[in-house]
Formats: sequence, structure tokens, C-alpha cells
Amino acid sequence: MSVLPKSVENVINEFSKLPGVGPKSAARMTYHFLRSPNKDATRLGEALMDMDSKTKFCNSCFNVTDKDICDICSSPSRDHSTICIVEEPLDVVAFENSAVFNGLYFVLGGVISPAEGVTASELRFDELGKRVISTINESVKKIELIVATNPSLEGEATASYIQDMFSKYIKEGKIHVSRLAMGLPTGADLEYADRLTLKKALEGRRDI
Ligand SMILES: [Zn+2]
Repeated sequence: MSVLPKSVENVINEFSKLPGVGPKSAARMTYHFLRSPNKDATRLGEALMDMDSKTKFCNSCFNVTDKDICDICSSPSRDHSTICIVEEPLDVVAFENSAVFNGLYFVLGGVISPAEGVTASELRFDELGKRVISTINESVKKIELIVATNPSLEGEATASYIQDMFSKYIKEGKIHVSRLAMGLPTGADLEYADRLTLKKALEGRRDI
């Protein structure tokens, strides 16, 4: 027999699935909501359900949006011949907040990581291939891909994979692939980089 009601256990269980949250923190968060007199739990639940029902991934860049094609992809004032490839939607937020980039994005959904069991097939490489090739077909300009995965071993391996994917087009001069400069310390997380660091990393991007 459990000491806690099933409904409370369920909440602890859900909180403990969050990144960086262990069972103790999950229990503490749950008790916070249990004690809260202001219907905080109801508001949190409603906010989560609202987000769940109203958001989706952009059909073109896979950033989080409430439209089929997000505002960035559909903006005529952005440079459609430059695509910045990032790991997660929060990386797009970091670039947009720093206002240092005026091209488009592509959200891969992670990096290749054999240690964590993430293979290429679990990331959006097929979608990236389709997107880039359709951009080549539409555009007379050379396409630049800026690989902005985090400066980790996995980030580097993912950058090499992308380069191999497009090697034919790179040789034909249709695509140029670059990688963010290492102004970012190895192991750093792009989403926490400040504006100046991101600007330098972007300006100093190098060929791969
Ligand atoms: Zn988009």
C-alpha cells in the first residue's frame, strides 16, 4: 500500500521526467503545488494543455510555432539562401534574441551521439536534405549552410555528417558549408551564449 494518493504519485512521476529533475526535487515541486492556495496547479495544467494544443513544428525549419510555416521562414526580409542548422528550438531563440543573424534556420532535433544511443536516423537529416535541395532548385544563389551545433564532440561529428551529406553539391559549388567559430568554449551550450559571443562565433565561422 502506498503512503501517497495515486494522484500525487502521478504528479511526482511526471515531474521527475523533466531534464535535471530527480525524484526529490520532483516531490518538492509537487508539495509546492499541493500547498499552494492560488490554484497554481490548475493554471500550470491549463498552460501546458494550451501549449500542447496550439503549438506544432514549422513544416520547413521545425522550429516551434503555431502556424504551418513559421514567421521566420515566411519573412521576405530574411536571407533565404543562408540556413543556420541548430540542435534545438532554444538555439533559434538565442540567435533571434541576439539579433546577429538574418538568414533562416533548420532545427535538427539533437546531435549524433553513440554514447546516448542517438543515431542519424533519429534526427531530421532526411528533412534537411529535402529542404536544402528544394532551396537549391529555387535559388540562383549559392546556398550557405552554417552548422551551429554545440562545440562538443557530438556537435563536431554531426557537422562532418552534414558536410558528407552534401559533398556532391559542395563540389559543384552549389552549397558552401561553414561551422561556427570556436569563440564558444568546448562543451558550451549555445542557448546560454551571450550576444557578443554569438556574434563573434558567427562572424568568425570557418569552412569545414
Ligand atoms: Zn520555419
